Amino acid sequence: MPVRTGSNKTGSGPLHMVDLIRKKRDGAAMNAREIAFIVTGAANESIAIEQLSAWLMAAWLNGLTIEETRALAVSMRDSGEKFDPSRVGKQAVDKHSTGGVGDKTSFLVAPLAAACGVAVPMISGRALGHTGGTLDKLDSIPGFRSALTLAEFESVLQRCGAAIVSQTPTLVPADRVLYSLRDRTGTVESPGLICASILSKKLAAGLNALVLDVKTGSGAFLRKRADAEFLGALMVATAEAAGTRTVALMTDMGQPLGRTAGNWIEVAECVELLRGGTPAGNADLRELSLRLAGWMIHLGGKTKTAEQGYWAAAGALADGTAFKVFLEMIDAQGGEISIFDDLKAAHKPGATRVLESWKSGYVGEMDTTELGWAVQRLGAGRERAGEPVDPHAGIEFHARRGAHVEKGQPFATLYATNETMLAEPVERIKRAVAFSDKSPEEVPLVSHIFAKENAETYLRDAVR
Ligand code: URA
Repeated sequence: MPVRTGSNKTGSGPLHMVDLIRKKRDGAAMNAREIAFIVTGAANESIAIEQLSAWLMAAWLNGLTIEETRALAVSMRDSGEKFDPSRVGKQAVDKHSTGGVGDKTSFLVAPLAAACGVAVPMISGRALGHTGGTLDKLDSIPGFRSALTLAEFESVLQRCGAAIVSQTPTLVPADRVLYSLRDRTGTVESPGLICASILSKKLAAGLNALVLDVKTGSGAFLRKRADAEFLGALMVATAEAAGTRTVALMTDMGQPLGRTAGNWIEVAECVELLRGGTPAGNADLRELSLRLAGWMIHLGGKTKTAEQGYWAAAGALADGTAFKVFLEMIDAQGGEISIFDDLKAAHKPGATRVLESWKSGYVGEMDTTELGWAVQRLGAGRERAGEPVDPHAGIEFHARRGAHVEKGQPFATLYATNETMLAEPVERIKRAVAFSDKSPEEVPLVSHIFAKENAETYLRDAVR
């Protein structure tokens, strides 16, 4: 990954998008005024989509300097209205992940942290690349509305302690345009673009503190450990420079998180856990959610340590208060909560196929990005911007990394929009999973934590 520092001198005189594309193409660093010009043009749609696409590709290929990344995050934050959670009278804390497969912790951490007394104003995104989107998953709940006005956002937050909303033409509009364009132009996997996209939303939500879940491993956008670490440090330092207390947990995305990957089936898996269900093939999802919520509760000033926050969150899970917050939030955003009465009956896939294990042995390395694409191709993701996704498509995994399976035993159940959409994902899964005769080494769920000081030191060493 190119890591450079650069000058951010502002200039004067008219700016032309074609000059800025050529500048980035040739590897020069852009100043804050040039970045603001691009962001404004993206938000008000005055820059042609082919020019924005070309600039994104130049930025992806040449990388963004730390200064460019900061300028981009701040300009994108300022591209529309901002939310002010101060009237809610609680510390506002949120969590955001850099994207993964089966990554559904938002549905758990938002009510867990809210149940423990912090406000969670969450601005989320849709499916991006091979990863699913929180908003697409929520859309599988009939009636649920994520495009709220700021007044509605505040009212849900006041009532429930948590609200999950989308970028809109007025709230972080630059990210709304650039996020969807990156998805269509193969320009997602860039530390600078990911950092600016995530932080623009989080900074626009007026947070007091932020917990980042930075994925590393085969299903992460930045698969290599060093690249993911750089992203973690970059995001913490950028958010801290913008005045938001931030920590980043480096977490394993070497296999899907939990048992399911899709839309409705992920919501249903979380509802089972919120109802106090015993983890079944998803102890990792429960544990990571408690760790993330623990940090949110701690940074929100409710406990002295993140570990105490963890136990507070575990209490809210066990006594049902987090589930109550979840139901209130869904109801307040127009969702039909009766859908949760019978989770299985609510799941109506067009076609179902049980994939039997094609070998015997221990489930070993997985190409989790490939598994993510399998989920998307079953109908859970979109081919074109704005297309609806199939709420019922997805995969339920019956065997996880380290499990010993016999040939012929159910490995996964695939849910597709129709029969013809099953073949490609089956082949992708078979290509993605390796078996071995030895149990694979355990991978820690959380391998490192960045806070302000170690993030700044890391970045200083990285650019040296
Ligand atoms: N999540 C975001 O909001 N943006 C990205 O670029 C990646 C993950």
